[in-house]
Amino acid sequence: MRRVKVLETVAQVQAWRASLAAACKVGLVPTMGFLHEGHLSLLREAKSRVNGGKLVLSIFVNPTQFGPHEDLDRYPRDREGDLQKAAACGVDMVFCPRSPDELYPGPTAVWVDIEGLGEHLCGATRPNHFRGVCTIVSKLWAVVRPDVSVFGKKDYQQLAILRAVQRNLFFPLEVVGMPIVRESDGLAMSSRNANLDETSRRQALAIPRYLETVRQRFASGQRRVAELIGDAEDKLAPGSIAYVEVVDTTTLQPVSEIRRPALLAVAVHFGGVRLIDNTELLP
Ligand code: AMP
Repeated sequence: MRRVKVLETVAQVQAWRASLAAACKVGLVPTMGFLHEGHLSLLREAKSRVNGGKLVLSIFVNPTQFGPHEDLDRYPRDREGDLQKAAACGVDMVFCPRSPDELYPGPTAVWVDIEGLGEHLCGATRPNHFRGVCTIVSKLWAVVRPDVSVFGKKDYQQLAILRAVQRNLFFPLEVVGMPIVRESDGLAMSSRNANLDETSRRQALAIPRYLETVRQRFASGQRRVAELIGDAEDKLAPGSIAYVEVVDTTTLQPVSEIRRPALLAVAVHFGGVRLIDNTELLP
């Protein structure tokens, strides 16, 4: 199989981008690597939207979106495996910054942040996480200058926030959201699943089962959130819950009764590994 082009500096990526014809469309899928089918679904979607243009994958475990006691050091990495998968998906160029300094040249830190959309869910449990995400994705958009950038709905809040960044900073690109890809037993694919031991992996199935239980309650007409999610502790045991919330899909503010499209979103730790998942509840 052909090897994919790998660039490691901002200057190289800018030169590569400048060498493309004006009419050449560029698609970008930002990731932290350790690629799985969820990532590959985004790459395929981006490929299909650039009409024979260029597909770019970025792989960067962005330190500024991790808190001091989070799993930055334990985040799984597999550069060679990722490059092979990228080549098989028709990626034209992989941007693997050789160090964080490449994207954070200093000497002053410049941040992109949002007001609103970040008070609940991951924003409430991971201080500064979305500031890190908004900043790194803005930098990648500025350097790669994609026409389309594709993200997964597994990180639903991230997608909503990045749409706001795109709109408010006038990035001339389309943000596309794609459905959650799951393992055959229902667990949402995640690079972090690699850090689950056998027992925690089995216990983590409580998450998709719980989402299904709530969906069934909703389908049978229950609209009161307290009734829908009241038994979360029980149903998600022995996981340790970071949050279980039902929010409005547009404002990401909690609702007590579902009269408009809503999102049930959860973050639960199993064996020390933080897993997130969600499902839309559409009245
Ligand atoms: P990450 O490498 O975890 O930062 O994720 C990179 C992109 O892949 C983000 O847009 C995620 O939302 C997306 N993604 C991660 N897991 C999945 C999944 N199971 N299904 C769909 N998209 C995913």
